[in-house]
Order: sequence, then C-alpha cells, then structure tokens
Amino acid sequence: MTKENLNPFEIAQHQLDEAAEHLQLAPAMHAFLRDPMREFHFSIPVRMDDGSTRIFKGFRVQYNDARGPAKGGIRFHPDETIDTVRALAAWMTWKTAVADIPLGGGKGGVICNPRELSQTELERLARGYMRRIARFIGGTHDVPAPDVYTNPQIMAWMLDEYEAIKGTHEPGVITGKPLPLGGSAGRTAATAMGGIIAIREAAKTLGMDLQGATCAVQGYGNVGSYAVKLASEVLGLKVVAVSDEFGATYSKDGLQYDDLNRHLRRAGQVAGMDGTENITNADLLTLEVDVLIPAAIENQLTGRNASDIKAKIVAELANGPTTPDADDILNANGVFIIPDFLCNAGGVIVSYFEMVQNSYQLYWDEEDVNRQLDRKMSQAFAGVYKMSQAQGVDMRVAAYLVAVQRVAEAVQLRGWVA
Ligand code: GLU
Repeated sequence: MTKENLNPFEIAQHQLDEAAEHLQLAPAMHAFLRDPMREFHFSIPVRMDDGSTRIFKGFRVQYNDARGPAKGGIRFHPDETIDTVRALAAWMTWKTAVADIPLGGGKGGVICNPRELSQTELERLARGYMRRIARFIGGTHDVPAPDVYTNPQIMAWMLDEYEAIKGTHEPGVITGKPLPLGGSAGRTAATAMGGIIAIREAAKTLGMDLQGATCAVQGYGNVGSYAVKLASEVLGLKVVAVSDEFGATYSKDGLQYDDLNRHLRRAGQVAGMDGTENITNADLLTLEVDVLIPAAIENQLTGRNASDIKAKIVAELANGPTTPDADDILNANGVFIIPDFLCNAGGVIVSYFEMVQNSYQLYWDEEDVNRQLDRKMSQAFAGVYKMSQAQGVDMRVAAYLVAVQRVAEAVQLRGWVA
C-alpha cells in the first residue's frame, strides 16, 4: 500500500479539484481558488518569565475574501505549519459559503505549546501576535476568532492590544470574546450546538431514532466537551466513550458530563474515572456506536483505520479529521458523513452573529442566538443534502459543490476571474 498523503493543504486542494471537475469550473477560476489570495509570516519575540527571549513563528492566511471579510480562528499548536493554516483557511472559505453568511475565509496559527507557557507568557505571545497582524486585520477585512488551544481570554488580550494600537473601541475586530467585552451569548457552545443540529437533521433523513442511541466523542476541548453535554441533553444520545490527548474512557451505561468534569478537574484527564474502563484513542474510533464525533484535529480517520469504523453517522466537529482514502472506504461502507465545514459551521455562524451585535451595539439573549443558529444550520444541511441527492454524490462532495459555486459566483461578479 502506498503511503497516504497527510499534508492537509494538499488534501484540501484535492477535495477542491474533485468539486471543480463536477462543476466544470473554468481553469483560471479553479487555479485562483486552489491557493490563498494573501498570506503573512512573522516572527514574534516574547520575553519569557525567566528573563530570556524566545522567538515564535506565526502565520495568518487570508484565503479568499470575495464574499466578505476573511474569517477564521487562530490556533496555538506545536505541530502548526503554514500548510495546516492554508488548509484551515481554505476550509473556512467553504464553511462561510456553505453556511451562506457574508464572510470569506482565513486562519492564523502560532507554532507553540501552550501547555509549556505560563499565563503571563501566553498573554505576551497573544499581544505579540496581534502587534504583527494588527495592520492587516479589521472588522471590514479580516476577523480572527478562537481555535485549537486559544480561548476567550486570549481573544480579550488580542482585542485589547488591537484597540490600544488603534486608539479606538472596535469589538467586531475579533470574535469569541468574553461576554463583558462584547462576546455573544451562546458562542462558546456554538460549534458543538451546530453539530448537534446537523446530527438531528441527518438522523431525520436516515429515519434513525437517536433517543438512547450510542455515541463516542474524540477530543475534550471546547468543542468536544460541549458535544458530550449537548448530545445527551438535546438529542438523548448515550455517550459511551470520550477521549483527550492522554487517553480515552468507556462506559457501556454512558458517561455523565458533570461526572466527567469533576473527574477532569481532579485528575487532569478524562480517563481513569471510577466505574469506567480505560481504552485507547484508537479503540474509541472503532467502537460499535451509532454516532462517532471526531472533535480533535485533522487526519484521525485514515486509510489505516477507516474500514474498522462501525458508526452509522460520522459527525466531523473537528476540521479535516477524515483523509480522502478514509472517505472512499467510509462511503463504500455506507457510513453517513456530515463533512467538517458543514458540521462545525455553528462556531463561525455565531461569530457572525457576534459581529452583527457588535456593529449594532445591541445584544441578543441565548435563546435568540440558538434559534437563529438552528435556522442557519438546518438550511445549510438541507441545501447540501439536496445537492447530494440531485447530483448523486456524497455529502462532502455536495458541500463543496454548494460552497465553491457560491465563492466562484462572487469572484466572477467582482470581475476578478471571468
Ligand atoms: N475556529 C472556528 C472554526 O474553525 C471558528 C472560526 C470563527 O468563528 O471565525 O470554524
């Protein structure tokens, strides 16, 4: 077997190529959409607590802004590369298009291990990153947000640094902020909530009863932990397995969100709770469950493990968890995949609501946010499902067809590419 290509940007380009062929996209349009419009690389010196200075590498990619300001999170991750950021920025472009919100796609990243940084070092890194990108971002052209290992506190430091540089209040320059600084109700849970709505819609089309059906969640960060909570609260799913970077835990009777959090606070990891069984992350993915939710990082379902996946629905709350080889195998085995940039669009949809609230200076309550989120997610799901039926393609290809068509139309209307 040839070794699988796991470069996320080459995977993103491969996925686009497939859509371009279906859409018979003109060669110049295809070439334009295959690469980022603009990208920035910078080095960020940070004074460490011991008095030394470390130089971190950071990136911001504005992949495409034909439909509106570039939009997408900033990741702090030790394995970050420019190609990961490019792929994530491309997926943001398709995500905002499939959700039909007036935004483009972008992404940022810093190569660092936040676990090895103190809070004061993290703050100096966040402010240093903002000093590098402040001149290139803004509410009308590029709006960052949280992603893997960044959070509302980091957004608050970045907002403060930006406003200090500009000398003005401009809360809409960044989303995922804490509520007192202009954040939106419902934003923290939004990515998971959007995924829960997508699973509900998928189950309807499949005629599947979710009440008491089983579920496994890979990853227990912001997205995974809310997915565990909402899967049982909203859908009545029984979450039998959960993992984090240290390992995984299984209970056939179901894991309770509050118990997990109590244990996590004490033990620093999800595994090892009384009355549960320790399993590996690899075991979790191949469990006999109805719904599998990858909510960690890219390249988790690959050509090596895809044929062992037993779930009926794979709901991709992570970005890029499934490789093209795995896609082929899962599709052949009749697994219903809710593709990442559809399934996890809830986060950026509520980020968009946050921008709207910031510009109106008028704030909605959580019920209103969730009602609007439900409407947007249900419409996006229905549009992709309809495309998959009409074209006889799987949900990922269908999502690309909907999104790429929308972006290409905007590019053409602007007269960038004929
Ligand atoms: N980082 C999230 C994502 O990948 C949210 C992006 C945003 O809200 O701009 O979708």
